[in-house]
Amino acid sequence: MAEETDASSPQCCIVGGGPAGMMLGYLLARAGVRTVVLEKHGDFLRDFRGDTVHPSTLRIMDELGLLDDFLQRPHRRLEVIGGWFGARHVQLGDFRGLPARYAFIAMMPQWEFLDFLADEAKKLPTFALRMRANVIGLIESEGRVAGVRGTSPDGEFEIRADCTVGCDGRHSTVRAAAGLAVKDLGAPIDVLWFRVTRDPAEVDSSLARIALGHFVVTIDRGDYWQCAFVIAKGGAEALKQRPIEEFRAQVVDAGPVLAAHIAADVRSWDDVRLLTVAVDRLTQWSKPGLLCIGDAAHAMSPIGGVGINLAIQDAVATANLLAVKLRAGIANADDLDAVRSRRLWPTKATQAAQVGIQNNVLLPVLGGANAELRVPLPMRILTAMPALQRVMARLLGMGVRPEHVRSPAA
Ligand SMILES: Cc1cc2nc3c(=O)[nH]c(=O)nc-3n(C[C@H](O)[C@H](O)[C@H](O)COP(=O)(O)OP(=O)(O)OC[C@H]3O[C@@H](n4cnc5c(N)ncnc54)[C@H](O)[C@@H]3O)c2cc1C
Repeated sequence: MAEETDASSPQCCIVGGGPAGMMLGYLLARAGVRTVVLEKHGDFLRDFRGDTVHPSTLRIMDELGLLDDFLQRPHRRLEVIGGWFGARHVQLGDFRGLPARYAFIAMMPQWEFLDFLADEAKKLPTFALRMRANVIGLIESEGRVAGVRGTSPDGEFEIRADCTVGCDGRHSTVRAAAGLAVKDLGAPIDVLWFRVTRDPAEVDSSLARIALGHFVVTIDRGDYWQCAFVIAKGGAEALKQRPIEEFRAQVVDAGPVLAAHIAADVRSWDDVRLLTVAVDRLTQWSKPGLLCIGDAAHAMSPIGGVGINLAIQDAVATANLLAVKLRAGIANADDLDAVRSRRLWPTKATQAAQVGIQNNVLLPVLGGANAELRVPLPMRILTAMPALQRVMARLLGMGVRPEHVRSPAA
């Protein structure tokens, strides 16, 4: 087994090249911390990561001087958000009251976002990204985490670092290996994920489409819709016992806009992927030598499309609190725990909102509890009051306790 000294005996080893890991890697390397990011996949080209880059993240990119280049990547601007409740259109948020440079959600496939961050980070001399590096365990020494063990196409590897950060998502290997306790907050939904061709002339790009018992999210990716059909947790197996035609009919019931092409694009269950949803949180985010952030510390539901942005905010807060100390080699257990103290409140508030929407909006719709489809009262009020839509957009777009970049550029 080779001892890894290249990438070069990093001060910080980040596990996972998702939004949290890539942003933290960039920020720490920018501050002069020798940083390596380990990503188990060979590229970022998985389409089930979500597309929503919120105003809070756009503002971070602006503070880093990256926004204009970033927006050269393919994306679509979403200035208002809404959807269909049966035949009734609801409008829930209007971002145009925010400062002009971030007065929208940038709908950008996440591989574009991660590729962009990777390209920028690779310009920094203290940054290294290792793809196909699958972390399988932690190295512990003298009562603290001293690095990671993993496998790659070149064989097994070990990387020792002053600090290891688990950014490896909601099925985090790092948090499991560290034995950090997880509190499950309950997610009564799962998602079926598939693509349907989109007519170029289509003008309706609403995200949410709801019928009695059925709910589909339609992400406009230009020539196709990336669709997420929301089902009750554990319901996928029973659904898959039924003919695919029944599934297609349920989808079209909620999203008539998909009717023309769904038969050609969703020919069998092979064209449909199950994504399981979790909402949970660690009670302790760190131990000596180790910290978890992003979904590894608090798995987020897709509701509101906020998980990516919360992960980015965690990364910014972590760099703000730790970059200088990591560079000096003096980050101790209290310093690592300061990240939890800073980010716990926004995490709790956001998860509480997600669980509330799951239980009070989604479950009644999926259960078909009402004889007719009724738009929930808060949505009717929002639709009727444009001023409230701006307040909602600010809450959703900037999140709770939005962070600013305070970590230094070396
Ligand atoms: C079905 C679904 C849809 C969603 N849609 C949206 C959306 O539209 N917008 C939104 O904001 N949020 C969405 N979310 C939530 C969002 O995906 C997460 O909150 C967000 O991706 C968290 O970012 P992260 O960087 O913490 O983790 P992740 O994005 O999960 O990234 C973790 C990374 O670690 C890598 N990794 C994992 N294990 C290892 C290992 N052992 N070794 C090395 N690398 C490893 C993974 O390959 C991955 O690249 C959705 C969630 C679900 C379940």
